[in-house]
This record gives sequence, C-alpha cells and structure tokens, in this order.
Amino acid sequence: MDQSRIRNFCIIAHIDHGKSTLADRLIERCGAIRGTAQEQMLDSMDIERERGITIKMAAVRLLYTAKDGETYQLNLIDTPGHVDFTYEVSRALFACEGALLVVDASQGVEAQTIANASMAMNQNLEIIPVINKIDLPHADIARAKEEIENAVAIDATDAIPCSAKSGIGIDDILEAIVARIPAPGGDPNGRLRALIYDSHFDAYQGAVAYVRVKDGRVKKGDRIMMMATGNKFDVDSTGHFGPGLTVNKGLDTGDVGFITAAMKSIGDARVGDTVTNADDPADVALPGYRKALSMVFCGLYPSDGDQYVSLRDAIDKLKLNDASLDFEPETSAALGFGFRCGFLGLLHMEIARERLEREFALDLILTAPSVDYRLTMKNGEEIHIANPADWPDPNDIASVEEPMVTATIMVPQEYVGACMTLCQERRGIYVKTEYPTPQRVILHYVLPLGEILLDFFDKLKSSTRGYASFDYDLSDYALSNLVKVDILLNGDPVDALSFIVHKDFAYNRGRAMVERLRQVVPRQQYEVRVQAAIGAKVIAADTIKPFRKNVIAKCYGGDITRKRKLLEKQKEGKKRMKQIGSIELPQEAFLSVLKVA
Ligand code: GDP
Ligand code: MG
Repeated sequence: MDQSRIRNFCIIAHIDHGKSTLADRLIERCGAIRGTAQEQMLDSMDIERERGITIKMAAVRLLYTAKDGETYQLNLIDTPGHVDFTYEVSRALFACEGALLVVDASQGVEAQTIANASMAMNQNLEIIPVINKIDLPHADIARAKEEIENAVAIDATDAIPCSAKSGIGIDDILEAIVARIPAPGGDPNGRLRALIYDSHFDAYQGAVAYVRVKDGRVKKGDRIMMMATGNKFDVDSTGHFGPGLTVNKGLDTGDVGFITAAMKSIGDARVGDTVTNADDPADVALPGYRKALSMVFCGLYPSDGDQYVSLRDAIDKLKLNDASLDFEPETSAALGFGFRCGFLGLLHMEIARERLEREFALDLILTAPSVDYRLTMKNGEEIHIANPADWPDPNDIASVEEPMVTATIMVPQEYVGACMTLCQERRGIYVKTEYPTPQRVILHYVLPLGEILLDFFDKLKSSTRGYASFDYDLSDYALSNLVKVDILLNGDPVDALSFIVHKDFAYNRGRAMVERLRQVVPRQQYEVRVQAAIGAKVIAADTIKPFRKNVIAKCYGGDITRKRKLLEKQKEGKKRMKQIGSIELPQEAFLSVLKVA
C-alpha cells in the first residue's frame, strides 16, 4: 500500500471507558471479521479476558474505503491499560502517528486519561478526542469536553460523540482517522530501522517481534540485527495482523507487522529495541530504548518442597514469554528453596502467579511484596535490598533510601479531605491541587512506592465510594528512616514474615501484624506466641490458643470411604500451607503485612 494511504493509530483511555469495545466496533465495521464476535478481539490471553484488562498489545490491519473513494490501510495498535505497563504503552505510542482518546461521557476525564494523553502528546501524536457511551442516560458530552480541555489541554471542539456499544459515531471516527492523522513519514530508501513495540513467544516460531517500520524495508531471507544487543538473525517470515498472523511478502516504511527469525527467547526481541539490516546497518537506533525495570519483588516458593524443580522449569518457560520477569534463586530459613522475582508492579506479579499456577499446575506461596531499598553502609558501601530477610544489622547502616512515585489522584471535590488524609497516613508529600472543572479536583502527591504496595488503591476507592482514580510514575529515591520489623513465632524469627517500615509506623504496624496473624494462623496443638520485634526489642505480642479439630472423630468405625474423603478434604485444606518448624502457616499469613496499614 502507498505510504500516503497508511494510518497508524492507537486507542488510549482510562480503564473501562470502552477502548476494547470501540476497537471491536472498528474492526467489525471494516469487515475484518465476519459477524459480530461477542468477545473482544484484541485481548487474547485467558487471564486478560477474565480480568477484563489488556496486558498484551496486539495490532490489527483494517481496510477502510473512505468517503473520498480511496481505500486506506488503518493499523490499530492496542496498548495495555494498566500503570504497570507504562513503558510498553510508550513504545506502542511511538509506533503510531495518532491516537483516539476515549473518554466515557458518564465518567469524564480520569487519572489514566490524563497520564495516557500526556504520553501521547509527548510523542507528538495527533490526538482525536472521542466521547464514548453517549447512549447512557447520564452521559454529559459538554462536561466531558470541558474536562478534556481543562485537564488534558487538548482542543475538544471537534471531539466525536460515539457509542461503541450501539455503533453510533463509528463512521465519523474512521473519517477523522483518515483526515486528521498524518500518513507515516520515514525514508523508504533508507537503511532499515524498525521499532519493536511488542513481542510474544510461540512454541514453533520462537519469539515473534511486533514491529513498526520507520525507515527502509524488511523481508524474508534478510539478515537482521537487534541494535541494543547486537544479536543477528535470519528472517523466516514477515506479516501483518488480519486479525491473526498473516504472512506477507515484506514490510515497507510505515508498515506495522511482525517478524519471525528463529529467535530463541523473548529477550531476543526486546520491546523498544530497533531492528536493522545486519549487512547494511543504520547508524543510530530509534530513541527511547530501555530495559524493563522491576519495581516490586517477592519470594516465590512451592508449598510442597518437592516441586522446586518444577517451579524452576515453569519460571524458565514463563520468562520465554515475559521479558520483564526477573528472577534468581533464594533460600529462606522458613520456606526453603525458592526464587526472588522482580515484577513491573503488583498486577504483573498477580498475572505471573496465576499463570504459574494455572499453566504449570503449581501450588505456590508468595511472600509479601517489597520494593528495592538503597542502603549506604557505614563503611561507605552502597547496597540494594529487595528482601527484608537480607536487611543488615542496623548498626552497620549509615542511611536508607526508598523509591518514590509521583501520584495523580482525580476525585470529586467532596472527597478531597479523605484522599489527603489517606496520603498523609501513607507518608505522602503534598505537591499541588488543580481544578479542571468546578466539581473535580486533581491532587498531586509524592508517595513512597512501598506504601502504594500496601492496599493503597483499595483504601482510596473505599474512602471515596469508588470515585477516585489514580495513576503514578516512578520518580527518584529519597532518604527515609526505615527499620526492619521481625515476626517471631514461639521465639523463633520467621524470615519470610519480616517487613520494612518507617520508624514512626513500626509500632502500629507491628501490632496490627500480630493481630492479623492471630486471626489467620490456624490453632495448633499447643499455644503459639506471636511477637513483633525491632532487633531485640519486642514491640507487640499475642498468643494463639491451642486447638485441633479431629475430622474423623465423628466417624465411629464403619464407613472407610467417608473417612478417607474427610481426610482428603483436610489434606486439600493443607495446600498453600507451609510448615514452619512445628507450626503450619497459610498463604494469608505471608501476605498479612499488606493489610496492616
Ligand atoms: P476498556 O477497559 O477501556 O477496554 O473498556 P471495555 O471496552 O472493556 O468497556 C468497559 C465496559 O463499558 C464494558 O462493560 C462495555 O460493554 C461498556 N461499554 C463500552 N462502550 C460502551 C458504550 O458506548 N455504551 C455503553 N453503555 N457501554 C459501553
Ligand atoms: Mg480493554
């Protein structure tokens, strides 16, 4: 297709504002799929569908005959909608010339609307505001426009009203894409430069790189080089998304498509890297490449120690699919052999855990997530600690720094007080307030990442009746007075239960943790003492009274199958339990610290 008739665009929105529904409607309108598929075409993984979120980006090529009689090729690139995947979003935006900014007419602009729109503006994309869900009775198009202009600073005069659900405004959107989004630039005769904006792993083809060709051309048989790693491969096939992968004769400047080249792991096709021709390489790579940064760490242990090798194999396999997953072996006195894993965020952690359990039939214990702390020791050495169990002797520590985030909270006026209280409780530093419309407020805070890992988002939602929306960006490290709190069971410290907390909060959180453990640890045959301590100083203590349920006590003699069933049921209940010394701890115990703030 002639470069001038290509349009590369994406859809950005706050979660639930209708991005996937609109994508489906556009696909349907352009006849890429027959009939009306109920399922959302772009969200391909099971877990995504269940959670109703988009983790993996995909793209789809649409052919649209516009009112001017010309046929255009529209490449719709899907972007993930969650803050954990901000970097991936930024790369997907870089593959486009324009974006549809979808705003729910009944909700108005939300925190991620602003975050995504400002990313798109930084990439100089042409932004077309779309006001969705106008079929809803409380849709307020005028208010949505006003919020877009005030909070996002985009002219919303030509915002397109639509209903992705009932199909209103779809043609207007397609016409606007053709008319307002520029055709891709780039030099068709230049040396190959293609941006990898996503990838996935296929058992037969190896890593599949999803690319946007910025200059030059790539086809089957070419020898390519990844500019960040210098690794070289022979192209097996190129193609586009129809949807579904469709092999073609090559990808030209401006095209969006995929490359397979017998790449053994997803790490060979890194998001943000530039593909060039190995025999005639480009001088400079496309800007913006960086390695995915782990923000959240936790220990992953098999609840049955015999599954260690299976867990290792499973993580290796998952890593083939997920370049952002970091892991290394770790041992815990309490939990035995396992792995310390690094994730982009809490959602990423949950997805990895679910996939490990579901796809590899494992039963896992996760320790409470931690951030990466930077410690300067008295001997001048600088160390990073992402596992509270590794925290050094406080006497050797000169100073501690923790990662901070800049947070944006959008909330109706009446809940500002509740939000500010919560941010203060989480050691937030107030930055400023903005008023995009008379009823709505944007609060800017700097918060410790470690405090957001606790149930910050849940608390924010519950203290604002669900009205607050929240987005954050990693900022810098800041000095903080942090200490490690140990948890002792019958006098023995359980390393996997230790946590790091600000000194001023240590007492309260220590007490809450002891209380929580008293609730979640099942009674044992004897009394269990639970203590929280900083060094040798106990700051909270409680006891769990002894008790043991004998499940077969009521089966007098006779029915052996019934007995066996009961015993099996009890065994089932023991899953996700971990024997610590003589005490059995359930999974909830290890995540207790998340609930104590
Ligand atoms: P995403 O998170 O932005 O991808 O949002 P979805 O496309 O999954 O939509 C979220 C919810 O809003 C779903 O229940 C959709 O059915 C619904 N929805 C999407 N578009 C419309 C619309 O135009 N009108 C109405 N009434 N509901 C819509
Ligand atoms: Mg979606």
